[in-house]
Amino acid sequence: AHLARNQAVDEKVHAFLHVDREGALATARAVDAKRERGEKLGPLAGVPLALKDIFTTEGVPTTAGSKILEGWIPPYDATVTRRLKEADVVILGKTNMDEFAMGSSTENSAYGPTGNPWDLTRIPGGSGGGSSASLASFQTPLAIGTDTGGSIRQPAAVTGTVGVKPTYGGVSRYGMVAFSSSLDQAGPCARTVLDAALLHSVIAGHDEMDSTSIDQPVPDVVAAARNGDIKGLRVGVVKEFRGEGYQAGVMQRFDESVELLRELGAEVVEVSCPTFTKALAAYYLIAPSECSSNLARFDAMRYGMRVGDDGTRSAEDVTALTREAGFGDEVKRRVMLGTYALSSGYYDAYYGSAQKVRTLITRDFAKAFESVDVLVSPTTPTTAFPIGERADDPMAMYLADLCTIPSNLAGNAAMSLPCGLAPEDGLPVGLQIIAPAMADDRLYRVGAAVE
Ligand code: GLN
Repeated sequence: AHLARNQAVDEKVHAFLHVDREGALATARAVDAKRERGEKLGPLAGVPLALKDIFTTEGVPTTAGSKILEGWIPPYDATVTRRLKEADVVILGKTNMDEFAMGSSTENSAYGPTGNPWDLTRIPGGSGGGSSASLASFQTPLAIGTDTGGSIRQPAAVTGTVGVKPTYGGVSRYGMVAFSSSLDQAGPCARTVLDAALLHSVIAGHDEMDSTSIDQPVPDVVAAARNGDIKGLRVGVVKEFRGEGYQAGVMQRFDESVELLRELGAEVVEVSCPTFTKALAAYYLIAPSECSSNLARFDAMRYGMRVGDDGTRSAEDVTALTREAGFGDEVKRRVMLGTYALSSGYYDAYYGSAQKVRTLITRDFAKAFESVDVLVSPTTPTTAFPIGERADDPMAMYLADLCTIPSNLAGNAAMSLPCGLAPEDGLPVGLQIIAPAMADDRLYRVGAAVE
């Protein structure tokens, strides 16, 4: 049924870069056969899922939204992919994304944009717009995203779906194409809080293949999503996440959500995190710096595309020609920014300062969590904007992640879930919940309460 839905709508939505029809049907049949034989089934047996095209999938193309990886077929599965398979999930295919996850609208995909199912002329968010659009267009009940600065939560917000960035280190990054390794985190996307929790519990947990993976038990997110009791819970409203640039209808729905939290028995207080206003600046030094290092591996020798290798050119020239042809504008912009920020003489002024700001942001969170259990804010300052509107204005585009980026810098856990439609445009608004590291279960408890 989901493959049929895909065939009916995805020509318009363009959520998928690759539909693995044969693979999906074969898995579904294998799960059926297992069931008939009375064998033990995985926890999500037979449930369809859309996988962001940033995870390696053995034998199935993986592009990370880039031309430079066009035609590359990975010889191995990411840990996330392997765990999904072990849970008997049916992977339908790979979803569209901004090239190497750099963007907030999916317009930076080398394979063309994805439409927002609520209004196809608008962006579905990014970088994981394909995953969220596949949920919002009912092509799948579950999807996987990655969140470096908001790429799970921001698309969830603008498509009226649920997205969770787990605690940094909560889900293995092994086999996930690296953008900014100290910020990247994989997580679940779904249409309900409980669905997200069920998926979270399948993909999370320690992995010795990822040195930053946390070796501790995963919080019981499923029990929390089934509980939803928030009586006496202390909720902090972040003062810095409102004001100029925030759409009136977004703030209206957010304020109503805060009221609802109060009605449900939560104790709501205002908290101030003054350094959050510097998060965007720090992020756009740290993320490009790490990306300039990570993307060095795309040298035309190891993977995918190779341009100009006619026997007369040096390896350096082939690498340069391939990068020129294979990387898009935003990727080049960030590699240049990052290379500059890391160069000797500038390193302390840029990268060093940004790391200091990162520490201050982490301290602001720690201080806030001394007096509250969770923080809340709008996920994004505005609803989905029209495709093309911010395409030539990187600064305007970067503002889409104003509220999501601090959590990546601090490494804590955060969720976006729908909290109604903005009255002025009828488009979905997202509520963001933030919890301390390794308290991911709190997100689900609060999410289940207000859903
Ligand atoms: N939009 C942010 C960026 O462009 C975040 C992307 C992400 O989380 N992968 O870097």
